Amino acid sequence: MDYQTILEDIHHNLTARKDKGKVALYIPELAKVNIDNFGIYLNLINGENYAVGDYNKLFSIQSTSKIFALAKAFSIAGNDLWKRLDVEPSGNPFNHLSLLEQENGIPRNPLINSGAIVISDLLLSNLKNPKKDFLNYIRDLANDDSINYNEEVAKSEKKTGFRNYAAANLLKSFSNLENNVEDVLDFYFYQCSLEMSCAQLAKAVHFFGNHGVCSQGKKHLSSSQIKRINAIMLTCGFYDEAGEFAFEVGLPGKSGVGGGIIALLPNDFTIATWSPGLNAKGNSLLGMHALEQFTTKTKRSIF
Ligand code: GLU
Repeated sequence: MDYQTILEDIHHNLTARKDKGKVALYIPELAKVNIDNFGIYLNLINGENYAVGDYNKLFSIQSTSKIFALAKAFSIAGNDLWKRLDVEPSGNPFNHLSLLEQENGIPRNPLINSGAIVISDLLLSNLKNPKKDFLNYIRDLANDDSINYNEEVAKSEKKTGFRNYAAANLLKSFSNLENNVEDVLDFYFYQCSLEMSCAQLAKAVHFFGNHGVCSQGKKHLSSSQIKRINAIMLTCGFYDEAGEFAFEVGLPGKSGVGGGIIALLPNDFTIATWSPGLNAKGNSLLGMHALEQFTTKTKRSIF
């Protein structure tokens, strides 16, 4: 299959579009990003790579960090994790609150903000140096020590993260947070502020497509744990548009409000796209189209 030509065709077709969506405005640092950035990186499980556009530029991975935090927490807590979190799609935006109140402080899933805040709490309780250890975990997965947090983005979010404070306080009131609200959110905002390129992201998620084994051959999670995380990505990875992503693209994946998306086909490939313009549901507009075109042209999806 001529992957390079397929990626170039998709990039060319979509770059010509006038409507590129809107960059996220609620985090001031993200509002400054140029909407014309657009990159795609394909990492085949056999080690081949193909890329087009701005695939080496760094961007804020935002909620895409939730899959790494989940993987780390699952490797630490095993199935005890599911005592504090459910695995059902929320059908609601990432920062929705009322379900949390109705369901007694048990977040619907680990990929919405309230779920990721519980995961952050668990990591805070179990990692020696949470920020440093989490960063090293990502660097190890991507085999790249240049990856870092962006402190400006983390601070920017702290100032405007009112709904995250509300979620964390609700979780605390239901005794589903062990640590202080302030400490848990500080760690959560740092995770969201990680900056990576499409190339780094596609490599870092390699282990989700390879039964828990990263591109350097190290086993991070069991096949069964990877199966479960991929299932959560498929059903919960795209806010209240997870059904649409499964319908159009047919792959497990995760998006972030920085405009990045990762997706994967187990045993076959991982792929990362970045275009900062978002659709009305908060997913990258061109990224969604690019992945739909990719699975349609290559006829490769889990279905
Ligand atoms: N840091 C963002 C927030 O907590 C993440 C949102 C996202 O990417 O879904 O609001």
